Amino acid sequence: MKQLLTTLFLLLILNGYSQKSIIGFSSENTNKQLQLEKSFEENLNATNLDKWMQKMAAEPHWVGTEFGEENAKWIKSQFESWGYDTKIETYQILFPYPTERVLELTGPTQYKAKLTAVPVEGDPFTAQGDALLPSYNAFSTDGDVEAELVFVNYGIPKDYEELEKLGISVKGKIVIAKYQGSWRGIKPKLAAEKGAIGCIIYSDPEDDGYGQGDVYPKGAYKNKTGVQRGSVMDMPTYPGDVLTPGYAATKDAKRLDRKDAPTITKIPVLPISYEDALPLLSALDGNVAPESWRGGLPITYHIGPGPATVHLKLTFDWKLVPAHNVIATLKGTEFPDQWVMRGNHHDAWVHGANDPISGLVALMEEARAIGELAKKGQKPKRTLVFCAWDAEEPGLIGSTEWVEDHKKELQEKVVAYINTDGNGRGFLGAGGSHSLQAMVSEVAGTVVDPQTKVSVKDRRIAANMVNGGDDSFELYALGSGSDYTPFIQHAGIAALNLGFGGENGGGEYHTIYDTYPHYKRFKDPEFGYGVALANTAGLITLRLANADIIPLNFSQWHSTISNYLTEIIDETESMRKEVLKHNKMVSQNSYTLAADPTKKVKAPTKKELIPYIDFSPLQNELVTLNETIAAFEKINTASLSKKSIEELNKRLMKAEQMLTSEKGLPRRPWFKHQIYAPGFYTGYGVKTLPGVREAIEQENWVEAQEQIKILTNTFKNFNTYIKDITNDLK
Ligand SMILES: [Zn+2]
Repeated sequence: MKQLLTTLFLLLILNGYSQKSIIGFSSENTNKQLQLEKSFEENLNATNLDKWMQKMAAEPHWVGTEFGEENAKWIKSQFESWGYDTKIETYQILFPYPTERVLELTGPTQYKAKLTAVPVEGDPFTAQGDALLPSYNAFSTDGDVEAELVFVNYGIPKDYEELEKLGISVKGKIVIAKYQGSWRGIKPKLAAEKGAIGCIIYSDPEDDGYGQGDVYPKGAYKNKTGVQRGSVMDMPTYPGDVLTPGYAATKDAKRLDRKDAPTITKIPVLPISYEDALPLLSALDGNVAPESWRGGLPITYHIGPGPATVHLKLTFDWKLVPAHNVIATLKGTEFPDQWVMRGNHHDAWVHGANDPISGLVALMEEARAIGELAKKGQKPKRTLVFCAWDAEEPGLIGSTEWVEDHKKELQEKVVAYINTDGNGRGFLGAGGSHSLQAMVSEVAGTVVDPQTKVSVKDRRIAANMVNGGDDSFELYALGSGSDYTPFIQHAGIAALNLGFGGENGGGEYHTIYDTYPHYKRFKDPEFGYGVALANTAGLITLRLANADIIPLNFSQWHSTISNYLTEIIDETESMRKEVLKHNKMVSQNSYTLAADPTKKVKAPTKKELIPYIDFSPLQNELVTLNETIAAFEKINTASLSKKSIEELNKRLMKAEQMLTSEKGLPRRPWFKHQIYAPGFYTGYGVKTLPGVREAIEQENWVEAQEQIKILTNTFKNFNTYIKDITNDLK
């Protein structure tokens, strides 16, 4: 109750006793909306989240399991009981199940990896034995290889640069990489490009084991047997079903031959625990690993290659399994053909109490509370579509197939897609389309943080400032890693991703330890942040659903995009300086003179100079765009007729689509958005203005200049679009 009063108090302060209108609403409708939001908040109940998590995380439920299907059916029945028109849409997707996993050290000593996490006291879910999914990386290819081992740190591009300096090649070898530092799928992708024939990924205790805190069951961190499962599909090329790129995996869809599927890895890859990694790493010799590469194991980290040799054998049962998406609709009273979408996945690697159930129960509680209001006659003006996706874990498959299936209709009807996934205690993280930033910031200013009772926005800003940031509320840019990807990056639909975290550290991610007891002890024991998430996402959903004018703000968008361009220009300059310095050091023999003469280090050679790039077309276009946006924002919307507003909304809904190009990004046409994409060599990590940025990072100067042209055209089209709207409203 205290929390509610505080919320109301904050609302009153922030809105000047509701005289000031909220973004997108007239002052009259602002009051109505705030009343509705108050009823919604009062309706949220933490007990439901707790109860539903216990039910849905009771057994393992990866895609294709019986329990997963039971969950989907139960979610559907819940939505129906809340008044939603609900269906299950099923796709037939390729999903590999491991049938043989062998990893052994064959020389100079012998060790057979156990590849099994142990049950722990106080957590009966970890003792379900064969019901638990064996630890593996989905979409590793089958393979049977034996070779010398090389330690490659995190296995990211800069680690291979370091290896090259040391004169070490991974060609024909098996690499062992630490889990963090990049999205896991990048490790086998890069290793294969460098000529390795196998890849092992292990969780170093320094990253999420005893180096961080007590291990499970005493604490939240990874014990010596815990293994992170996860997909290694080449998602930066395209996510979703590997056999049906760009179209839906329906029963009768034409499918690629598995050997032709470009997103399955080229070499076998297996994740292991630090207990299993220790004998392998101990058996390495050769160069001692650079200081920054050393982890938390009680050994001297060597790189090899060898003398350790390992044998890795993996076989999978490659079969089609059904992926069940639950789609629940509450029809809008005024604009039924304008949809506000809200989604979270329901499949997990094992029990998935945190990932994804903690986010799913928040979504369900929002839907229930909104359903209650609708039953009392307070229905949304626009249609709400709630989705519980299947097969997110193996590669965003359920949502991708659904978006590919309905792409045309979605591009006509969807106002925005709001995503959540695992949730915990701490600070609001919000990412997405920057035209939505102002509205999200306004909502975050009204939601109360359950621990400190200030707004979740103030708490976020406090954390930013303490960590060296400034005092503004900003959305981060979306890379990949959850179900927003097909919406924003493929269909060009404005999207958000929301979640709380930062005070819920642990090592349970994708292991058998992500269970209800673990969640209750270490994540969000009272589900206070579950309710805060339902509150934040629910208010955003309701504002988008009821706004008189769709709440987009392009001046904040413009300043963010301009910053991205400045960043790229600055980075190009520092690359230039570095190359000049490097070449000078090569001429002066500095590398050799600075090295220990008793150690073998390959002297580097001169690098190609960085040419001057002409960014002016982009800079000029951003100036023009700034003027256009200023003119658009000067329109007095209060004087517009109902018909003009309807017309305006129809066009605002599609504004984000103007930022895509049908041709897509170089070498990955599935990714159409020109502002945000997951990095080709970072995976989940975002690359903003990706066409230009990645060409420069890869030192492909011809492509950089081409991509500047393409992006300039994107800005030009966007400019024309906003200008036309403005002119038509005058
Ligand atoms: Zn997840």
